[in-house]
Amino acid sequence: MAKPIVAVVGRPNVGKSTLFNRLTGGRVAIVEDRPGVTRDRLYRNAKWLNREFTLVDTGGLEFGADGNPFSEVIYKQAEAAIAEADVILFMVDGKAGITADDETVAAVLRRTKKPVFLVVNKIEDFSQRDKYYEFFALGLGDPIPISATHGMNTGDLLDAVIEALPPEGDEEDDPDTIKIAVIGKPNVGKSSMVNAILGEERVIVSNIPGTTRDAIDTPFEREGKHYVLIDTAGMRRKGKIDESVERYSVMRSLRAVDRSDVVLMVIDASQGVTEQDKKIAGYAHEAGKACVLVLNKWDLVPKDDKTMNRFDKVVRSELGFLNYAPTIYVSALTGQRLPKILELVDFVTEQANRRIPTSVINELMTDIIRVTPAPSDRGRRLKILYVTQTSVKPPTFVFFVNDEELFHFSYQRHIMNRFRETFGFEGTPVRFIIRQRE
Ligand code: GDP
Ligand code: GDP
Repeated sequence: MAKPIVAVVGRPNVGKSTLFNRLTGGRVAIVEDRPGVTRDRLYRNAKWLNREFTLVDTGGLEFGADGNPFSEVIYKQAEAAIAEADVILFMVDGKAGITADDETVAAVLRRTKKPVFLVVNKIEDFSQRDKYYEFFALGLGDPIPISATHGMNTGDLLDAVIEALPPEGDEEDDPDTIKIAVIGKPNVGKSSMVNAILGEERVIVSNIPGTTRDAIDTPFEREGKHYVLIDTAGMRRKGKIDESVERYSVMRSLRAVDRSDVVLMVIDASQGVTEQDKKIAGYAHEAGKACVLVLNKWDLVPKDDKTMNRFDKVVRSELGFLNYAPTIYVSALTGQRLPKILELVDFVTEQANRRIPTSVINELMTDIIRVTPAPSDRGRRLKILYVTQTSVKPPTFVFFVNDEELFHFSYQRHIMNRFRETFGFEGTPVRFIIRQRE
């Protein structure tokens, strides 16, 4: 299911990241394969009143990279939010009052029909009405005063946001169709790859038109199996989106990832792994999707018999959190190894859908604990009482233990490694959930 996107727009220092952290704070009971997935997270999954959405801090999008003047940067942030988000939070600084940049953004946002909330931050005293009433002048309706640091009024703000989200879709989900999201930076060759895969002889493309507004879905059939390619670059080709906005927009990739079963993370091998690649790949990992790392433009790379190994090492160290994802080196231009992509898609899909019987898991657990005893602390030893797999896509295991605190990350990682050695799960994240009993 695609989660709706809520974008936060605003000048630096108005408090976007403070709000961001507040709205998405709280403990996550999920073990990642590796710690420190993404250093600066510009998007996070959030949940309020049982409604899930993705929060995007547009301030983190790299509009400044080309040395554009700031007014242009913020203008583009607003444009990107309008193009991609379902709801926009426009944040201003109640202490600073209206600035010229605020007016620039407001002028852009006034043009959209999407719900925009004008959030006046740093209001610690709601009785000082003039501090936020002055923002009425921006022509975006009622200013909503909040204090992000103190969490004042943020609950009411979220209530309103939830109210404004599009109704929960009931996108039909055919379990026999594999949905493939092709994601990656601009110009890595996503469209070329999609075209090449669809142009393959044994692929039968059906004529059902794409169903969503933000990606071009192409259903096709190969050797009796059904697939849908979600092409995130397709929109640009249709000319619906300004290229300068598209260039920096990762939001569309996020939505495509949410809707997919398998992610093809496309990287330009002639450029190596960049920061933007890491951000995009990080989302696929966090969303729990099966993933194949596709290094495209392999034809451009001068090579000897060790080049591929060397590349693998670089990819593994740069994208360490995706260490479970298989790599493939292709050329959308020459067609080299392209047919292999769908074989890998089938393979990682199977892995993500694997179910391990509880008896087999607990047998392995007995063996793990015998070889590497569970840690203890001040005379108290961790007891793992029972482990069972609760779901697939991604495979998720619940551990019932006597004391969560004793279940150190290093021991969890050790178990994770043993699980992978034993069960495979190649190409899919694996999640552990820890529950304390007794
Ligand atoms: P961003 O650049 O928009 O992401 O802004 P930050 O979240 O980094 O916040 C910028 C500064 O404003 C920091 O020093 C915050 O501590 C401060 N700040 C954020 N929210 C509030 C608030 O509600 N009240 C006050 N007084 N300061 C705030
Ligand atoms: P997208 O923005 O990721 O969809 O990238 P495109 O498919 O539009 O490709 C960007 C550019 O890279 C185009 O000029 C393509 O012809 C070129 N390109 C794509 N794949 C390859 C490849 O495998 N080898 C080479 N040499 N060029 C490629």
